[in-house]
Amino acid sequence: MSDAPRPSNFLRTIIRDDLESGRVAAVSTRFPPEPNGYLHIGHAKSIGVNFGLAAEFGGQCNLRFDDTNPDTEDTEYVESIIRDVLWMGHAWAGEVRYASDYFPQLHAWAQHLIREGLAYVCELSPEDTRLYRGTLTEPGRNSPFRDRPAAESLALLERMRVGEIDEGRMTLRARIDMAAPNLNLRDPVLYRVKHSRHHRTGDAWHIYPSYDFAHGQEDAIEGVSHSICTLEFEDHRPLYDWFIEHLPVPARPRQYEFARLNLSYTVTSKRKLKQLVEEGHVEGWDDPRMPTISGLRRRGLTPASLRDFVERTGVSRSESVVDLGMLEFCIRDDLDKQAPRAMCVLRPLKLTIRNFPAGGGEALQAPRHPSREDLGTRVLPFGRALWIDREDFRVEAAKDFKRLVAGQEVRLRNAYVIRAEDVVCDAAGEVIEVLASYDPETLGKNPADGRKVKGVIHWVAADAAFDCEVRLYDRLFRDALPDAADGGFLANLNPGSLEILRGCKAEASLAEAVVGDRFQFEREGYFCLDPRRGEGDVPVFNRTIGLRDTWAAGNKGG
Ligand code: ATP
Ligand code: MG
Repeated sequence: MSDAPRPSNFLRTIIRDDLESGRVAAVSTRFPPEPNGYLHIGHAKSIGVNFGLAAEFGGQCNLRFDDTNPDTEDTEYVESIIRDVLWMGHAWAGEVRYASDYFPQLHAWAQHLIREGLAYVCELSPEDTRLYRGTLTEPGRNSPFRDRPAAESLALLERMRVGEIDEGRMTLRARIDMAAPNLNLRDPVLYRVKHSRHHRTGDAWHIYPSYDFAHGQEDAIEGVSHSICTLEFEDHRPLYDWFIEHLPVPARPRQYEFARLNLSYTVTSKRKLKQLVEEGHVEGWDDPRMPTISGLRRRGLTPASLRDFVERTGVSRSESVVDLGMLEFCIRDDLDKQAPRAMCVLRPLKLTIRNFPAGGGEALQAPRHPSREDLGTRVLPFGRALWIDREDFRVEAAKDFKRLVAGQEVRLRNAYVIRAEDVVCDAAGEVIEVLASYDPETLGKNPADGRKVKGVIHWVAADAAFDCEVRLYDRLFRDALPDAADGGFLANLNPGSLEILRGCKAEASLAEAVVGDRFQFEREGYFCLDPRRGEGDVPVFNRTIGLRDTWAAGNKGG
């Protein structure tokens, strides 16, 4: 899938051993998102691991929505998740699956546990349930409802199911061991009453299985061989194994845990991302500053660079924080290879070539990519009136300023050598126009008489360029660990994370761009055409990333 080497990891080792020993005949994994938010880069990792391992070992990977909580779930999220998984380039086995499809089976298994004396309907209040649970150092106490007859529990569960019981009044609990050192085994809740409408099953159910009761059994129903999840579920594994042991399930999945992906300058929690959206700190789930897959896509990342990144982060059982620089490296690496080059002037300053014939425009040619001849060439209109970037001109400058200085020469990228001869200033003394001359003998080659031209700048022809908006993004948070920052992640937002530049001038060939197209704007970075138009109905280009890592070089601590 990517060129990156595939270092071995403990999951690969386990799967290889399982196949060699014959413990499993075929590898089956799944990606099981809850549709209560958009996928983020942590999910991309889980997607990479599950789909990647299945593909590598000739197995299959399911996409299953873990839709067991109607309070927070929505079809908008289902649709976005499907879009994101497809965009990442993965294909799941068969139809999309839903935990809600298994509600009848899970309910039947709950009744089975009651009949076996392994579950009971409990009427402790949520608060008392917590108190009776005990702590890590103290055992819990048995619920007074623990020994009620199975027939009574079955009847009550039915009343819960059809909606006769208020939320919070009753739960169905497993009957395991209130003194178990592992708190997850202290009679965990299997079902709770919820009267909200479910986005798929509507009002058919008034009870919903807990995550713990649903997850392992869903894997068993689907014949998942390796249930891969993150480390926070390690302590739940004994409970999952208990269910599998005590239920007539068709298969016995085994769970393996790995450390979740944490990324510097980033929060990866759906709850927090949702808060950023709902409180208006960002434009939406797909804001290009968001670490959501939809945000990263709008920002201009390629699926290949995201897959490459998650692969490079490896799989381990120890928690760590991956440097955002690694993601940025993967993005640049991929875009450099494929993004067509173009020129766009972000802060336009007028430049007039006085010895170029008025009205005598010229059509120069330039390669779309320096090493990809297959991408062909583009027409680059040239003329008497040009735009250059304000930052590329100085009336006076130190020697290390390798751009245009009054009285000196510079090369226009893909075109001629010019000399700045004079300037026009406004009343405030601000330069508003540079008056220049060009040397017609220097197209694509250095001056013949041995003059040294130290710099190259980009430009566009004023007659052929079109206006656009450019959005420059910076890290959304100031600190590497926003979750640990004083005042929490919201107090750590970077006020300069978005800079909008209007009246930018794009070269003519960019007019053909379609939404999602990615370019390298020469000397400025990698950009992607946004789905939405900017002020004045002009195209918007998002900067995916700069050409070099400027953050380390002095942008820090801002
Ligand atoms: P969040 O913590 O953001 O709420 P979640 O784990 O509750 O995420 P799910 O929809 O349950 O979200 O996640 C689907 C799958 O993605 C799970 O298997 C989960 O373990 C995995 N996953 C979520 N976050 C990460 C992460 N940061 N790194 C690796 N895998 C992750
Ligand atoms: Mg979860």
